[in-house]
Amino acid sequence: MSATIGGRLEWCLSRQRLWGVPIPAVVCTNCDQVIITSELIEFVARGVEKQGIEYWSEINVHELPFKFSCTKCNGTAFAKERDSLDVWFDSGISHYAVLAHNPALAFPADVYLEGIDQHRGWFQSSLLTSLVLEGKACTKSFVTHGFTVDQKGHKMSKSLGNVVSPDELIAQIGTDGLRLWASSSEYGGDAVVSKELLGNVAEVYRKIRNTCRFLLSNLYDFDIEKDAVVFDQMTVLDHYALEQLFFVNNSIRASYERMDFTGVFHQLSEYCAKELSSFYLDVVKDRLYVEKAHGHERRSAQTACWHILDTLTKLMAPILSFTAEYISDEYQKNKDQSIHLQSFNDLKEILQSMMAQIDQHAVAGTDWYPFEGRAQETAQKIDQMSFIAEREEQWELLKKIRSAILKAIEQQREVGTIKHSLEARVTVYFGLNEQQTVILNDFIKTLEQHKQTIEQFFKEFLIVSQFIVVSKESELNQSELTGLSVKVEHAYGSKCPRCWHWDVTQHPEHLCNRCQKLI
Ligand SMILES: [Zn+2]
Ligand SMILES: [Zn+2]
Repeated sequence: MSATIGGRLEWCLSRQRLWGVPIPAVVCTNCDQVIITSELIEFVARGVEKQGIEYWSEINVHELPFKFSCTKCNGTAFAKERDSLDVWFDSGISHYAVLAHNPALAFPADVYLEGIDQHRGWFQSSLLTSLVLEGKACTKSFVTHGFTVDQKGHKMSKSLGNVVSPDELIAQIGTDGLRLWASSSEYGGDAVVSKELLGNVAEVYRKIRNTCRFLLSNLYDFDIEKDAVVFDQMTVLDHYALEQLFFVNNSIRASYERMDFTGVFHQLSEYCAKELSSFYLDVVKDRLYVEKAHGHERRSAQTACWHILDTLTKLMAPILSFTAEYISDEYQKNKDQSIHLQSFNDLKEILQSMMAQIDQHAVAGTDWYPFEGRAQETAQKIDQMSFIAEREEQWELLKKIRSAILKAIEQQREVGTIKHSLEARVTVYFGLNEQQTVILNDFIKTLEQHKQTIEQFFKEFLIVSQFIVVSKESELNQSELTGLSVKVEHAYGSKCPRCWHWDVTQHPEHLCNRCQKLI
């Protein structure tokens, strides 16, 4: 924009048009000298305020309460000026007309948003007038966007017949879909409308909506006020889910701050598809479906799911406006204001408030409270967010282990030993290097603090029925992760009709040992 300002000529403010904002001046009929005074401007402005823009064309020059005399020829006969102001002047002073007089707004504006053609137009007229009037720029930032083009990059035009109207797009992908499409394209350049791109956007939208539908369908009997599990008592995997949420939330909020909506689009899409759909939600399904409705295991997963849904809905609200409103109608019991009046979540604050509840539980002496004395320690960690850094390398290693074992399971599926991962019995030997062993042992300690065993953890983490850690490598195969040996075979026993896990059981209907306890 500096270039267009540097190269500009003087601004001729008057235009010879029949419509527009009149220039309140009078012209000497003898010598064409123009007279304009602040008194005249004020007088005409008040007239326009009362009677509208027609005031100037309707008033007779003799009705003006001023005695004009020509500064050039001393003539006393005057006519009204018929030129109007350049339209860029009208829109250029909108900062003065709108911002300064509206208590809900402020000068300077946060952002001026327009197409790239406005570098010469509105942006420039706004800047020039605000510099004259206020001595500074009328906005903190300018954002420019490109134009919509067809898949060949041609600008849409009626003569080419390649115009796609927003109505057509809405009919195909809905209003939220249209906004999602807009967020998916880099607004600095031209935005392409093509069948293929719309198909991709529709797919991402479906993924986000299905993720939310799954979360909602598992929260029907959950009240965050009454049923939430405090942070320190959640399972290790649910901790992990909240930690990931912490990262995603920070990162997407930062993208919004930078007005990087494409970044928001990609992160929302990736979080729903990879982190939630293919991993966390897939893994906790078992706990949500099978465990006791009011049991600690299920409530812990529901607590994580509720925060994921709440955070996700707020993050998507600026783009998927209707979807976010519908979703929040469902999960926000006693909702008293629109999702669009609510703020984004601050995960650190949420985790800290979950910690604050811990003392109450300790006092109440709930029977499954095994964490006394650790509340303060965890609170301190949350304050510094140090637990996330500590866990990061643990999860990096755990995911490597998971991927190596999943590959071994897949091989057995291909040769027909098993059909589904739940039919697998996995035996592993950990001969990891020194550094990895330290990390794994730390993780096992964390599990123990949460009254979980490594076998329980990996059964859930891998969605398998049986998981055994052995201390000898023999009969196992080296996996793709150095130091990890694995054997995958068909699970022992029979398939539980309730949870589909395999178990060795004496039950006449083959109910697994876990389900026998749960029923
Ligand atoms: Zn004159
Ligand atoms: Zn079962």
